[in-house]
Amino acid sequence: MLPGLAQHLEAQREPMKAALMDLLRIPSVCAEGAGGFPFGGAVDQALRKALEIAADLGFRTRYGDGGYYGFAEIGEGQELVGILGHLDVVPPGELEDWTHDPFDPVEIDGMLYGRGAQDDKGPLLAALFAAKALLDAGVTFNKRVRFIFGTDEETLWRCINRYKEREELPGMGFSPDARFPLIYAEKGLLQLHLKGRNESGLRMAGGTVINAVPDAMFYDGKRQEALADALDVLGFAYTRRAGGIEVRGKAAHAKDAEAGINAIARTCVALQAIGVSSKAIAFVAHEVAEDPYAARIFGVCADEPSGRLKFNVGKIDLGEAEQLSIDCRIPVSVPKEEVVEKLTVAAAAYGLEYRQFDWLAPLYLPLDHFMIQTLMKVYRAHGGDMASQPISSGGATYARAMQNCVAFGALMPKELVTEHQPNERAVLANLYRAMEIYAHAIYELTR
Ligand SMILES: [Zn+2]
Repeated sequence: MLPGLAQHLEAQREPMKAALMDLLRIPSVCAEGAGGFPFGGAVDQALRKALEIAADLGFRTRYGDGGYYGFAEIGEGQELVGILGHLDVVPPGELEDWTHDPFDPVEIDGMLYGRGAQDDKGPLLAALFAAKALLDAGVTFNKRVRFIFGTDEETLWRCINRYKEREELPGMGFSPDARFPLIYAEKGLLQLHLKGRNESGLRMAGGTVINAVPDAMFYDGKRQEALADALDVLGFAYTRRAGGIEVRGKAAHAKDAEAGINAIARTCVALQAIGVSSKAIAFVAHEVAEDPYAARIFGVCADEPSGRLKFNVGKIDLGEAEQLSIDCRIPVSVPKEEVVEKLTVAAAAYGLEYRQFDWLAPLYLPLDHFMIQTLMKVYRAHGGDMASQPISSGGATYARAMQNCVAFGALMPKELVTEHQPNERAVLANLYRAMEIYAHAIYELTR
């Protein structure tokens, strides 16, 4: 421990909590364009409040590009270390599910309740006040440390994309917007459509979102009895409902597609078996079926740091056109072009055309990378946990918005995850622990 740092960290606990409560009182849910601000007046207010808090702590601050982002910087030097967090929150949902007003924070049993306490206002302020404790301890920073405040992480990341267009990019950094110890690998996230003219005469639709395994698909066409027979033979569960048959599946996140049962895939397999087909039905039945890895198209597509490619048909729509909506998680070392090429060829054989919908490049730093080594060393020394290993994930954190950036805290490995849920709350002792970890991390990264 640096001399005096423990006392300075302790002295920042109450100010950090007070500042967090101020931020939690601002209902910074995205309201696009409202009041002339990019993401609404409340998001803007949260951004200004964060900059005010940082300025009071001695940071140089900047309100960026009409409220798309802001940043707060300390230290001197050529190199820039970035710490990337966000001030927008997801909507509270049903208010009756909350025991307290989501935007009037209360402390109960050492926990601070309020929307944003875990995601991401709490972790962001823990890191900010950690830097303040270092300043008070007389540490000189040999690199500049810049806190970058995002404002639409929960929606489309336009904030950070603007930042990247207009501002200096950090050479390395971390994002306190996930969990400890750290996430060093996140698969590439490709969302796409396969589209073609519908020449089948069939009309049907299934699935609600692209990034979830659909748990049901309803068929109300003419061949219901034949479909039921086929489902029986295949051993696929279904229920009869007014006017049709509902093929049953099991929901899962697309990143964990193998944990689900894809009701669209099962419906397509059964329909194809009774001769009810179309471009999309035939593609799904022949090329994918129930394989969450789509190995018929991609072979065994996997790597050591991040595991197998995952392939989820999230939606099917047979209208004027046929369209499949697909979420594909690509191993970190596999070039996206390779995947697109194989898929394009496979789809073309059925008269379907590939169209990209969204792409988030993978995040990957090898385990022997300086950042990983440094942050793991700090976490093990100050996190009270020697067992947890660096995490590889199919999900997407804010960290992948920047080069050489990893997701680092602030949830502790066994901490209850309440982000995006009613009664979101942060365990204050864990936030204080995170402050200590962040202080040492910032110290090490600025040597
Ligand atoms: Zn977040």
